[in-house]
Amino acid sequence: MIIIMKPGASEEAIEKLKLKVESLGVRVSMTKGENCTILGLIGDTSNIEPSRFLVNENVEKILRVQEPFKLANRYFHPQDTVIKVGDSTIGGNKIAVIAGPCSVESEEQILTIAKQVKESGATFLRGGAYKPRTSPYSFQGLKEDGLELLKLAKEETGLPVVTEVMSAALIEKVSEYADILQIGARNMQNFDLLKEVGRTNKPVLLKRGLSATIEEFLMSAEYIMAEGNQNVILCERGIRTFETYTRNTLDLSAVPALKKLSHLPVIVDPSHATGMWWMVEPLAKAAIAVGADGLIIEVHNDPANAKCDGEQSIKPERFDSLMKSLKEIARINNRSL
Ligand code: PEP
Ligand code: MN
Repeated sequence: MIIIMKPGASEEAIEKLKLKVESLGVRVSMTKGENCTILGLIGDTSNIEPSRFLVNENVEKILRVQEPFKLANRYFHPQDTVIKVGDSTIGGNKIAVIAGPCSVESEEQILTIAKQVKESGATFLRGGAYKPRTSPYSFQGLKEDGLELLKLAKEETGLPVVTEVMSAALIEKVSEYADILQIGARNMQNFDLLKEVGRTNKPVLLKRGLSATIEEFLMSAEYIMAEGNQNVILCERGIRTFETYTRNTLDLSAVPALKKLSHLPVIVDPSHATGMWWMVEPLAKAAIAVGADGLIIEVHNDPANAKCDGEQSIKPERFDSLMKSLKEIARINNRSL
């Protein structure tokens, strides 16, 4: 952190501020320029709020040098995190593909889709049992029955299950069935929920909030990690912009940005990012090309009658051909799928 004093700040004011900073346990390196003095804070400033200096009338501005996230920061953890889930992994050389319907709708539906995506090479099954819907009148998910059906699909296919947990009260229940707990975009800054999943030992798939900056996203991962759970997977799923043609705007630049700033695995959701089934394939390919560690894709055997997100779901046959082309792109990037 760097504190820039106002031109004309008195020696006495500067010395007083220096003593205050030192009392917080960091060292100060002072540079006196022609017009103003700069105090460089040396040491761990992560717990120091810039606002405590900004209220000082002699301070012009504060510059932050280090990012406020620590556990999620690649600086303190240079090697990529690889998360092990059963026999599968997320992060590292092998690209993970999570596929399945938006929501679990029936036994026949989830079993059919699970078997098909497994056949095509998916490594995880997705399916919502508790759904965060914009309208309270829309299908809210099969809840516990949905969890039971996911369990059945896991038994039949061996695919580990990714499913959303919407509230802290449901973590225990959902954890009995989920191999990975999904925190949805709308809950990315539900700090109590983040802290609670941070106290479990389940890997967490954290989706980027609709209007969250990269830094806010990483601070949410930090919430989970600060409670002890280091197994966080970051998911770019599109953000709100002025563009209304697509459901959201897929921010593919978030992939290299997150991978530069953090050691955590980064995956992309082209389904929620675009809201259109025919855009899923090109953007899934693009995501792997820019270095994503995996994808989460909505696949439905009867999209026209899906209870949720049919318009952005691809059919199993299309998923199969997509997997084949993704293999090629992964190979060019020296990765496997
Ligand atoms: C989902 O994955 O089903 C979902 C609701 O996604 P998001 O939270 O990204 O909207
Ligand atoms: Mn969905």
